[in-house]
Amino acid sequence: MNKRTPLVAGNWKMNGDPSLVEGMAAALAGYDGAAQMVICPPFPFLAQARELFAGHVAIGAQNLSDQEEGAYTGEVSASMLAGAGCGYVIIGHSERRALYGETDALIAAKFARAQTEGLVPILCVGETLEEREAGKTEAVVCGQLQAVIDAAGIEAFARAVVAYEPVWAIGTGMTASPEQAQEVHATLRQTVASYSADIAASLPLLYGGSVKADNAALLFAQSDIDGGLIGGASLTADSFLAICRAA
Ligand code: PEP
Repeated sequence: MNKRTPLVAGNWKMNGDPSLVEGMAAALAGYDGAAQMVICPPFPFLAQARELFAGHVAIGAQNLSDQEEGAYTGEVSASMLAGAGCGYVIIGHSERRALYGETDALIAAKFARAQTEGLVPILCVGETLEEREAGKTEAVVCGQLQAVIDAAGIEAFARAVVAYEPVWAIGTGMTASPEQAQEVHATLRQTVASYSADIAASLPLLYGGSVKADNAALLFAQSDIDGGLIGGASLTADSFLAICRAA
């Protein structure tokens, strides 16, 4: 039986403004469903989100530095994020991997750094279309997960979230079918279970990639899908709420 609390996280990416934070806070205030809601706005809106979401909705960041502090212009540290009220941080998003050259090693270092400050990492893994068509999906996603297990240790996954986000489904309107997503989620959970059955059983596994109000319920009904990481549909209160209600 699945005893994991459903979790739905909104990744606003480089979108939004203070009025979106206000509108979202007002709209989400009435939510009384089972899912833990997390909103990850751009850094400048974290303080406002902390104030307006006031514990009802958890807040997260979209990135952090792997370094503790010092001369790293433009970077934001884990302790700054924790101090700003973040409970979560997205790590290894495919846009960070593809556009900013983030390697598995850097992602593993960020994962560990987040946990030193009590932040829960949302570790993203996912294959490109070419990799899927070449039959490499399992090797790619398990390789990305394994890199963090090797660096941080399996115990670190007792306080983490993993998001399966097929790159070909992010922002494209193409969603993995519930069966395709479930197959990968089961493989990821099995990888963790090969180290610790308990940690595997409690690890929240999110699906991300063009989740919308009309496809969320079927995805979330799969036994190893514990919620979603939502991009575009998290920018509209109605669609984000509908997705949370499906979880
Ligand atoms: C994402 O960027 O994490 C994402 C899943 O985006 P979208 O929902 O827009 O595909």
